[in-house]
Amino acid sequence: MQVMRYFCPRLINEDGKYQSNMILKVSGKKIIGLSREYPTSTDDKYDVVFPSDSIVLPGFIDCHVHLALDGIDFNQSLGRWQDDSLWVPKVKQQLKDTLKCGIVAVRDGSDKAAIGLKAKKLMVAKPVIISCGKAIYQKGRYGTFLGHGITNINKLKQVINDLAAAGINQVKVVASGIVSFNQYGKVGGPQFDLDFFKEIVNEAHRKGLRVMTHASGAEAVETAVEAGVDSIEHGFFVKKDTLRKMSQRGIVWVPTVIAAGGRLNFNRPAENRDVIEKTVNEHLERISWAKDAGVTIAVGTDAGAPGVPHGKSFVKELRYLSQAGLTNEELIKAASETGAAVLEINQLGSLAEGKSASFIVTRDNNGGIVGMAENISDVYHQGRRIS
Ligand SMILES: [Zn+2]
Repeated sequence: MQVMRYFCPRLINEDGKYQSNMILKVSGKKIIGLSREYPTSTDDKYDVVFPSDSIVLPGFIDCHVHLALDGIDFNQSLGRWQDDSLWVPKVKQQLKDTLKCGIVAVRDGSDKAAIGLKAKKLMVAKPVIISCGKAIYQKGRYGTFLGHGITNINKLKQVINDLAAAGINQVKVVASGIVSFNQYGKVGGPQFDLDFFKEIVNEAHRKGLRVMTHASGAEAVETAVEAGVDSIEHGFFVKKDTLRKMSQRGIVWVPTVIAAGGRLNFNRPAENRDVIEKTVNEHLERISWAKDAGVTIAVGTDAGAPGVPHGKSFVKELRYLSQAGLTNEELIKAASETGAAVLEINQLGSLAEGKSASFIVTRDNNGGIVGMAENISDVYHQGRRIS
């Protein structure tokens, strides 16, 4: 197989450190070598020489998307689900937009039609997709568009069995409603009591499946954490004490700030701008508490939700996390290495020999990772340049 040698004036290595004059050797989809070149070398030794002011980063990872939704119109998205000729081109475009923004893997947070799972199986040129298929929620509560409503524990085993057989990678549980955008502090209530929740988590873990949990509101997040879930998604109004437990137990937080912030671009009569702003600010403060408590924070956008387009929302989430106080180094880690760990993909998350050749070429104009995410010139995924 042909070996490609890329000369990288600067590159962020495995330890998150900036390194100069690096040669990235790629064969097929993999990095087969990463070494330092000394300035005496000439350009013709390389197949590709990246511009002198460029910097190469590991591909980004979005821990929370919904491929079934387009980020603009919820009802129109739903209207496409039953017809492959309608949703396939749309999802293809979304995946393209995602890759273009440097996102080389996504975790799909489910939908009732299992579009995310179908896309994983059907689409060829795409970021790596980790899929939850259909979510588990309490029948009659929030989550009808996301998956399986269940009412009793006896059905649980069957539901998880079926999901596993369908090829899901992780289990998505909807543990609460959503945060209100017109009444500050209001959240749709918790869906499962602790015993029921523990059964869900235990059943998923018995199958070797991690549990990704939609939870907002102090009580729902606390119950999910006590039940032993693997990640908390959204987590609006999480308590300080719950964050401490998350830190101790290694439960990851995917705060999806842009899921609320993205609403500011939508002038919906039923939604109140001040409430959204206040909710966002409150959330940022909690992220700073989480950082202080040592909680592992990952980047997830909830792309597909109204006001959260696929791909370009990632940098907005990075900016929010930066506002919340995460340092540049912490952001880089959250956007790549932590994301890969959350998605259980050890081929991604950093640039090193043996890993996937999925990387971003950008410029560092002192804006740190946020600026770099805005100035992407090239994306390579599994050895191929994305055009
Ligand atoms: Zn979601």
